[in-house]
Amino acid sequence: MDLGLKGKTAIVCAASSGIGRACATVLAQEGANIVINARTQSTLEAVAAEIRAAYPDVDVTAVAGSVTDPAVREALVSAVPQIDILVNNAGGPPPGDFRDWDRDTWIAAIDQNLLSAIELIRLTADDMASRGFGRIVNITSSAVRVPIPVIGLSNATRAALTNFVFGIAGEFSAKGVTINNILPGPFDTERLRKSKDITKHLTGNPVAGRVGDPMEMGAMCAFLCSNRAGYITGQNFLMDGGLYRTGV
Ligand code: NAD
Repeated sequence: MDLGLKGKTAIVCAASSGIGRACATVLAQEGANIVINARTQSTLEAVAAEIRAAYPDVDVTAVAGSVTDPAVREALVSAVPQIDILVNNAGGPPPGDFRDWDRDTWIAAIDQNLLSAIELIRLTADDMASRGFGRIVNITSSAVRVPIPVIGLSNATRAALTNFVFGIAGEFSAKGVTINNILPGPFDTERLRKSKDITKHLTGNPVAGRVGDPMEMGAMCAFLCSNRAGYITGQNFLMDGGLYRTGV
C-alpha cells in the first residue's frame, strides 16, 4: 500500500531514541522528509546520520533542544518551508508519590507533556489547514485509559492533552487535517528498560507474552500520517497487545 508520504515533511519530536526514533525512521522509510528533535545535539545528529544513510532520498534536518523551549519549537517549524505532519512526543514525567510533588514539579510536567504539544499544534495546524492536508499524532500513554498510580504526572497531563485535542479535532476535519493519539502500553525502549521502578507491573506483558517493538508503533504512526487515514480523527489508539481490557 502506498501511504502517499513521499515528499511530505514531518516534525518528529523526541526522536533520538525509542518511540520517537521509530516514528521518524518509518516516516523516512516511507519517503517523508523529517525534521527530528531531541535535547542532546550529538545523539540527535547520530540518529540523523543513520536515517540519512538508510534512506538517502529523504531530507533529514536535526533541531536540538527541549520541546519545552519556545525557541526550539520556533526553530522546528521554521527549519523547512512547509510542515505537513507533526508527531508530538517528549520524555515521560518522573514517577513518584503525589504528596511529594510541589507546584514546580507539576508545572514542569504540564510544560513538557501538555503545553509543548499544544504550542506545536498552534504553530502548525492552521498552515496545514490552509493547504488542505495535515496530520498530527500525539504519543501519549496507555495511562490515559488506565491510570498508573505511580505516574500521576503522566496520567494527568496526557489526559489533559487528549481532551484538548479532541475538542479541536472537529474544527480541522473538513480542512484535511487529522489529529489522533497513540497510547503506548509497554514498549521496549530505554525508558522502559531504565525505569523498572516506574512500571514494574508493566515490564512484562502477560497477555501478549512480549512487550511492543517501537517499530510497530512507528508503522502505526506512519499509517495515521498517510493519505489513507484522512477519515480518522479525534481518536485514541491503544497499542498494548491487549494488556488492558477496557470494554467499549
Ligand atoms: P525513550 O527514553 O526511549 O526516548 C525518549 C526520547 O525523548 C529521547 O529521544 C529523549 O532525548 C527525548 N526527550 C526527552 N525529553 C525531551 C524534551 N523535553 N524535548 C525533546 N526531547 C526529549 O522513551 P520512549 O519509551 O520512547 O517514550 C516516549 C514517550 O512515550 C514518553 O513520553 C513515554 O512516557 C511514553 N510512553 C512510553 C511507554 C513505553 O513503554 N516505552 C509507555 C507509555 C508511555
